Amino acid sequence: MHSIGYLQQSVHGDHCANEITNSQPQLLIRGCNLLSPHAQTRLLYNQDILVAGTRIQAVGPSGTLDCNPFRIERIISGEGLIAMAGLVNAHTHSLENMLKATSPSLPLELWLVPLFVDTVKWSPRFVYLSALLGAIEMLKTGTTAVLDHLWTVAGVDPEYLNATMQAYNDVGIRAAVAPAIEDQDLVLEAGIRRGLAFPSHPFIDRFAHWPAIDAQVRALEQFIATWHNADDGRLRCLVGPSGIHWCSPALLQSCLELSERYQTGIHLHAVETELQAAIIHEMLGQGGIAYLDKMGVLKRGTSLAHAIWLDQGDLELLAGSATTVVHNPISNLRLGSGRFPLAEAFNHGVSVALGSDGSASNDTQNMFGVLKLTGLVHNQPDKDYKKWPHPDEILDAATHGGARALDMAAELGDIAPGKLADFVLLDMNAAPFLPLRDPYLHLVYCENGGSVNTVVVNGKVVVEQGLVTTVDEQEIHQEIRHYCATHGFNPAESIDITPNTNEVLTLLDRLRRHILENGDV
Ligand SMILES: [Zn+2]
Repeated sequence: MHSIGYLQQSVHGDHCANEITNSQPQLLIRGCNLLSPHAQTRLLYNQDILVAGTRIQAVGPSGTLDCNPFRIERIISGEGLIAMAGLVNAHTHSLENMLKATSPSLPLELWLVPLFVDTVKWSPRFVYLSALLGAIEMLKTGTTAVLDHLWTVAGVDPEYLNATMQAYNDVGIRAAVAPAIEDQDLVLEAGIRRGLAFPSHPFIDRFAHWPAIDAQVRALEQFIATWHNADDGRLRCLVGPSGIHWCSPALLQSCLELSERYQTGIHLHAVETELQAAIIHEMLGQGGIAYLDKMGVLKRGTSLAHAIWLDQGDLELLAGSATTVVHNPISNLRLGSGRFPLAEAFNHGVSVALGSDGSASNDTQNMFGVLKLTGLVHNQPDKDYKKWPHPDEILDAATHGGARALDMAAELGDIAPGKLADFVLLDMNAAPFLPLRDPYLHLVYCENGGSVNTVVVNGKVVVEQGLVTTVDEQEIHQEIRHYCATHGFNPAESIDITPNTNEVLTLLDRLRRHILENGDV
């Protein structure tokens, strides 16, 4: 069979071959059942995966691989396990792992306000723990790589950035961190234009407490110079302008220059809500995607979170530029942002990845929930059912699409020779696979992450028997509980902690109604 023939190829002659040397430790997964993209054979039974160093060296029927048993450091039995490429969570914000269940569902512009109210006393250690908490949840539920659009309550703060990357370094997940940077808020400016007087509030005044934008750009550059491609390339830095309406053209230009200087990607929010899209039109005189195109931001290696409120011609711009859109269906529903036109994006050949978004708008980091909702929310009666997303397309977005968002399409997303060894073994005897039919349907509609048995990232086993091997999860939970108990975190305090919060929410709601419904301002 053609597919097995391909899988049996070794990496000799491949561009990666010179990176795999005889001295690298080898890991053998023996007799697993490999998820296959072919319609007739959804699983290739009884396969071996040979890993050398950070990469997969060979894959094929059990017992047939050309390997020296004396060089194999470890053998893991794959009996009863399904092997699939690791999921990529292509959009989240790790600080929000401590902000899950912070507010009831609200429109994005209102939901943001209480997040800046300081119920949590942030410290570099707490930021570290926050990144760890989410990374552990992701690894245990089959996510091997994350794109963290890291916003903090202090702008680009080197201590918080380093603490976050240290967490990813320690826990063993593949991480691309894009520190969010911003210098304006066109939503507030649109309100001020209309005579709204926003009261003093941590969200309204946030820029006043942050270092000057030049200092933040320098901190961002220092961060990239320190961490980009650390630990054999497992840790990467991206440039993360916060969003179209949160960044001045000058800041966007600085971000572009940084990404070109360090040959790294760009990640930003784009036209997430109808209000944002309307205000971008009003203030910039054009749609957000057309504006990004004019600025030179749309290109391979750029990924846009959400991109829901698109104009005519935007899908062509996105497809033509090889820009990836990260679809976040749970967050989009939680904040009532709208529905990304997934079928139309697929139709136009747009690169689509999937993301959880931060836990303040999801409220978990489990990508299996994202897969399932992607497989449900687009099944609308006004759409031709043949355009409803197929499980293969959903898993492709969660693996290959995520790889494209990280600009690692040549290296991630497949269990095949020469690829980076990022994969997951799931227990096919667990209830979600019983009785087993099409594994793609099981993975999208039945699995919840609980069947994940083993996770390998960059050639290292980081989850075994469902438990993270790199850090002590129970100790981390205990430290978080202790920190909250001793640092003024009061679970009873929520949205009304600052007297001005309600006033800001009322004003923003009036602005929304004025712009979207022609209401009074
Ligand atoms: Zn986001």
